[in-house]
Amino acid sequence: MAVDTSNPAQTAGQAGQEGAPRKPDPICAVIARTRHDMIRAEIMEAARRNVLLAEVRIDYLAKAPDFARLLADKPLPLLATVRRRDDKGRFKGTEDERRMLLRQAIVAGFDWVDIEEDLIKSIPRYGKTKRIVSYHNFDEVPSDLHAIFRRMHEADADVIKIACMPKQIEDVARVLDLVRFAKKPTIAFCMGDMGVPSRLAQLALGAPFTYGALNPERLAAPGMLTVGQLQNIYGVRRLNKETKIYGVVGDPIGHSLSPIVHNIGFRKLGINALYLPFKVPEGKLANFLASHTPLKIQGLSVTIPHKESAVHQATEMESLVAQTQSANTLVRTASGFKAMNTDRPAILESLTAGLPANPDGSPGSLKQKMALVLGAGGVARSVVHALTDAGAIVTVTNRTDEKAHKLAADMGCRFLEWNLRTTVLSDIIINCTSCGMYPEVDESPIHPSMFQKGMVVMDTIYNPENTLMIKQARGHGATVVTGLDMFIRQAAAQFRAFTGQEPPVDLMRQVAKNALTPITVRPAAARAGDGPGEPAGEKSDGPADPPAGAPA
Ligand code: NAP
Repeated sequence: MAVDTSNPAQTAGQAGQEGAPRKPDPICAVIARTRHDMIRAEIMEAARRNVLLAEVRIDYLAKAPDFARLLADKPLPLLATVRRRDDKGRFKGTEDERRMLLRQAIVAGFDWVDIEEDLIKSIPRYGKTKRIVSYHNFDEVPSDLHAIFRRMHEADADVIKIACMPKQIEDVARVLDLVRFAKKPTIAFCMGDMGVPSRLAQLALGAPFTYGALNPERLAAPGMLTVGQLQNIYGVRRLNKETKIYGVVGDPIGHSLSPIVHNIGFRKLGINALYLPFKVPEGKLANFLASHTPLKIQGLSVTIPHKESAVHQATEMESLVAQTQSANTLVRTASGFKAMNTDRPAILESLTAGLPANPDGSPGSLKQKMALVLGAGGVARSVVHALTDAGAIVTVTNRTDEKAHKLAADMGCRFLEWNLRTTVLSDIIINCTSCGMYPEVDESPIHPSMFQKGMVVMDTIYNPENTLMIKQARGHGATVVTGLDMFIRQAAAQFRAFTGQEPPVDLMRQVAKNALTPITVRPAAARAGDGPGEPAGEKSDGPADPPAGAPA
């Protein structure tokens, strides 16, 4: 069962405590349910969440709609949508029947109606019902996007909505550009993972609202965020044309903790900024930066697979970046971007904090310490570089021996065959492999007999925070350093570089921990934060609701 883990701020005691009644958030909560009673329940939940309006997907209803029942005592404005199959909706009838249903919804008193651009001329304006003219394309961003947009501008509508599936990163920028130049209120975004940032960035460019699911199990379109994520991670009500944009570039990016920790930092310090997860395919960082210049991105965290190409996008760089040819941070300057590496100081700070202090109370030193590094990937390279520079005597070992051999040769340190890894004495052991990472949480890259009191054992994995290796090392009396510690330190250094301000490190750590903590599955009806659920065994008036991710 999916659970909305989007509420780290509230669990950290920060958000949702602002008390006084406030303007609704610029969100349209999408309600895609098969039963009238569940729609009613979600309408109430949408009102409780203080969103601007709720979209009732009439096409999802298993029975003929009873508009009077749906609209009775409505606590917030409602939008009626009857999406046809061609637009990934569920309406099975003819276009004439669909037109009739939309007219009935208008007459019944819906506040808003969504009408596709090819249909809008055939449905006259009536009463006070406002009109959204919409265009959906689940295959591509069409080459005649501007012609479509011009036609939509001329339609008798109050809001324009365009949602397309991007094939390449430049497509996202093309769609967002529509919002910048629109003369009418316009919602324009891309779907899918690549489109996620556009669902938020459009608000900073002037879009009147964005769409969100009330329930993480019922995302009505690919890439749709939940209302909880929009409110609690991205703080959408604060976004405006002054909002500065930051983000993380990588692929994959979906499970990055960076948006959670940076956005909570911005909010805590009252900085008008938004941090977004940009899914940028390998080799496309330059295209991304060039096409997204209108967003005036102020800073980026850089992760796999762009750490090397980021160096080539920079107009200046720290000496460390020049040496390692690897950057995890790009910061906007007057002339372009400065490339930085916050991984390495984070590794050294984490390890030094774990070392026993000297007898005179000064911090322990890595000099002449025997360090065993497990792994030979990107993180291992940073770790080995940091340790050798700090004077440690480093031995590298890796499941694939050749890679460790090469890394050792590149860095001038020792190489050890993987199957001999339990034969060396070490002061420090660092796991830089992904062995033990979720979901393989019952694995460890090394036998626990290697651990003893007085050693420092670090795992760079942060999901879970307490890996089997960390637990075993702790059990043997070693001092442990977790990957979460390293992650938070590098994020904090990025935050300083982005904003010039001291980040709320403890809060960032807490929200990251909350996001990683295994969630206990609560009974559906009790999941207030995820929208109302269906109690087990309840009599249904229609077929089951669609699974998460079903197209809509
Ligand atoms: P990478 O470049 O893909 O390298 C993965 C390494 O793990 C390789 O050495 C690989 O060995 C080894 N490996 C994978 N599965 C293994 C297994 N079952 N047994 C033994 N070795 C195995 O990845 P990376 O970017 O270096 O990341 C490594 C770890 O660091 C990941 O777990 C990641 O979550 C963590 N990380 C932490 C932070 C942080 O801030 N704390 C930041 C980034 C990454 P082969 O060469 O034999 O394939």
